[in-house]
Amino acid sequence: MIGVRDDLAELEGYHSAQVTVDVRLNTNESPYPPPPAWRDAFLEELAAVPFHRYPDREARALREAIGELHGVGPEQILAGNGSNEVIQALCLAFGGAGRTVAVFEPTYALHSHIPLITGTAVAVGQRRNDFTLDPAEVTRLLEEVRPAITFLCSPNNPTGVIDGPEVIEAALAAAPGLVVVDEAYGQFTTTSALSMVADDRPLVVTRTFSKTWSMAACRLGYLVAPAAVVAAAEKAVLPYHLDAATQIAGRLALRFTAEMESRVAALVAERERLAVALAALPVDIWPSGANFLLFRPRDVDGPTVWKGLVERSVLVRDCSSWPRLDGCLRVTVGTPAEDDAFLAALKEVLA
Ligand SMILES: *Cc1c(COP(=O)(O)O)cnc(C)c1O
Repeated sequence: MIGVRDDLAELEGYHSAQVTVDVRLNTNESPYPPPPAWRDAFLEELAAVPFHRYPDREARALREAIGELHGVGPEQILAGNGSNEVIQALCLAFGGAGRTVAVFEPTYALHSHIPLITGTAVAVGQRRNDFTLDPAEVTRLLEEVRPAITFLCSPNNPTGVIDGPEVIEAALAAAPGLVVVDEAYGQFTTTSALSMVADDRPLVVTRTFSKTWSMAACRLGYLVAPAAVVAAAEKAVLPYHLDAATQIAGRLALRFTAEMESRVAALVAERERLAVALAALPVDIWPSGANFLLFRPRDVDGPTVWKGLVERSVLVRDCSSWPRLDGCLRVTVGTPAEDDAFLAALKEVLA
């Protein structure tokens, strides 16, 4: 295309197959919709929205409700159209030309992709062979490249591994800039960096409504950070970026926290059942603290297995071309019936 930025022309777009199948286990959404009472409350408030007016630019009520959930004030919350927009705002405000972010592969592709779109360089460190992160590797990379932003992800997508407090502390000790811990799957595990967020620490935690809250269609995510970080990131978002419907949806969702927690508990139990079933097949799997499992078929290559599953109307994520994930696939924990369909199809493909 004429005139496109050279660096953008070289960049591959974000790809995740949207194929029509019966069993969709490829994007880590919840298999369960939000409660009917949430839907009723949402539609009722939606009917009263003055649609000819711009929405609240500061999303005040939503930020107050999220802040209450975490015991902080609204000035420590920035909400956006998915946590991806929040990450973009951080890259625009703290990254950009001449600056670098640090990531540790294998990890979430968008932690590299969004910085590159914003003209920020990406420096890559490596996780261990079991995909845990050595604090010494964090220190080494941060001292070497002095990144403006360091991205951690816990539980890590696509490996499911949790970064312990020693990893986050190593990053905070060596980072000259922000340390962002992406906790998109935070509620599926018991460890969180949220309690470490403090005004005198450059720590940012991001969360999303897309997974545990069963609201991927709404596009809502947020960060918890020192107020000064929020104020800086806020300068980088477009005016009125968060529409009225999304603000209402998120604020009302927080009234159903207990329902969210029971969906999460059911998915964690189902994850363990799925892990046991996978362990009985000729595949390598990794322990996961999220709502997905990474696995590597031993005798058939990843893309062949992926295709065989699609032919049986089951969609998983093909990670085999991602850094260090040769032959690997990632399956989202679905309903018991969906997981049984996946297991039956996988057995056929591996036979
Ligand atoms: C799914 C996911 C997100 C969510 O992105 P949204 O834009 O909020 O839908 C963020 N980070 C990670 C690691 C994810 O896997």
